[in-house]
Amino acid sequence: MTRSRQFSVRQLAIAASVMLISGAQPACAQSSDFDAWLEEVRSEAAQRGLTAPAVIDTLARIQLVDRVIELDQRQPELVQTFWRYVDARVTPGRVAIGEGLLSTYETLLDEVYQRYGVQPRIIVALWGMESDYGRAQGDFDVASSLATLAFDSRRSALFRSQLFALLALINQGDVPGDVRGSWAGAIGQPQFMPTTFSRYAVDFDGDGRRDLQGDVADVFASAANYLALSGWERSAGWGQEVLLPSAFDFAETGLDERKPLEEWQRLGVRQIDGRDLPLRALTGSILLPAGAKGPAFLVYDNFRALLAWNNSALFALAVGILSDELAGGGPLQTPRPAEEETLSRYDVVELQSRLVGLGFAAGEADGVVGEQTRRAIRLFQKSADLPADGYPDPELLRQLRVRSDP
Ligand code: CA
Repeated sequence: MTRSRQFSVRQLAIAASVMLISGAQPACAQSSDFDAWLEEVRSEAAQRGLTAPAVIDTLARIQLVDRVIELDQRQPELVQTFWRYVDARVTPGRVAIGEGLLSTYETLLDEVYQRYGVQPRIIVALWGMESDYGRAQGDFDVASSLATLAFDSRRSALFRSQLFALLALINQGDVPGDVRGSWAGAIGQPQFMPTTFSRYAVDFDGDGRRDLQGDVADVFASAANYLALSGWERSAGWGQEVLLPSAFDFAETGLDERKPLEEWQRLGVRQIDGRDLPLRALTGSILLPAGAKGPAFLVYDNFRALLAWNNSALFALAVGILSDELAGGGPLQTPRPAEEETLSRYDVVELQSRLVGLGFAAGEADGVVGEQTRRAIRLFQKSADLPADGYPDPELLRQLRVRSDP
């Protein structure tokens, strides 16, 4: 009796969370408020000495962009999965074009490798992932996008500092005032945010300007400089697909578990073709991005430099997989499921609520699978004698329903 009442309260909580997630928030920004806000930005720019004519022009024509607010508030309907993410990005066409570019720019990429220690295939893979090799740099007016987000978004302090970083780049002539880029303010072929551009971009061809829109020498060197300063080791790769032994303890997976390669070897981990792991003084972690039934990856320290670039394991894995295919490697060896079952955000809200109801601290039921949710899933899986891979799928939700409904 008590239990069923608790459950209905939980159901209400689920319904409330779902409404919060799906309720579209109106773009309530008032243009007169925006004008007043922009006036403050202008005087702060002047105080900071950002007074070049290009900056004045830019600040005079900045506008509030409703579409940027919409995109910022958009919530994906389905939870992103490994196969869907990788299939959409590591396409045969992208591999073929990348192979051609690797050979076209062989000399330049080799010079960049000599200077920064980042392998050509990694730079070309990042280039393909970020802007489809420079062909998709975004068509939003970056100054207006950043001003809109600084004025209206939940992360206004962050975007305000990006806006001033952009104005500084315009002031010193690296970036034209009307530069176009992503709706969130990323610029050029490597899609750098202005603060990243400011810190890491390099004028490799020595023409006096860091040009990430049109100059591939600057683009390659800037990408390599970013990774090098994030800890990329020139003698190592990103990682590889591996075989796990049948009795593997899934609690050993995840980026928090770092071990020397020889330790993984001792635990029975092998290269995907069954050979021993390379005998190298590297540490690595095992990742299961599609759960225990999907492919397993042993990722090295260089993988963390890719995470510094974009803190998403799916992004970093896709860069690694694309770079291997560019270097002539085959596709992944682990067979993909005929049809990948996916969870919607509503399913994730229910999953999180049921975990909490069963006493596993999954955090706020927000429909987003973060580290806390994965940890709670692992604890639930252990308690239920399931492989503790921390992976949310429809089967896990069924198991949770069975155990929470008497
Ligand atoms: Ca240059």
